[in-house]
Amino acid sequence: MVSPILRHLKAVRRRTPGGRVVTHFRREKTSKQVCAICGAPLHGVPHGKRPSEVRKLAKTERRPERIFAGVLCAACTRRVLEEAFYVKHGVKDMSDVDMVLRPFVKQALKVVE
Ligand SMILES: [Zn+2]
Repeated sequence: MVSPILRHLKAVRRRTPGGRVVTHFRREKTSKQVCAICGAPLHGVPHGKRPSEVRKLAKTERRPERIFAGVLCAACTRRVLEEAFYVKHGVKDMSDVDMVLRPFVKQALKVVE
């Protein structure tokens, strides 16, 4: 039986300059990008493409044009921005913010008015 790991991979045969044919294996598709907080799949982000293929896309084809695009999902971005707003205006203290959100809230404080 073929090794279970190899069943996920695609065999690629290439001829070397010396004339030998070598077989190597590569993963066919990359997985979906997920939200850093809740793990939900991100929208507007390429998946199934290898990093070299993603690099060749236009900038706006790689991720949406907004804060935390390609990192957080829309729902988590909203939570973070709301918390940042409360902290900025003294409604909440940073120590009252959920620990998971804190690093993102710190970053969002730079853009929240
Ligand atoms: Zn999320």
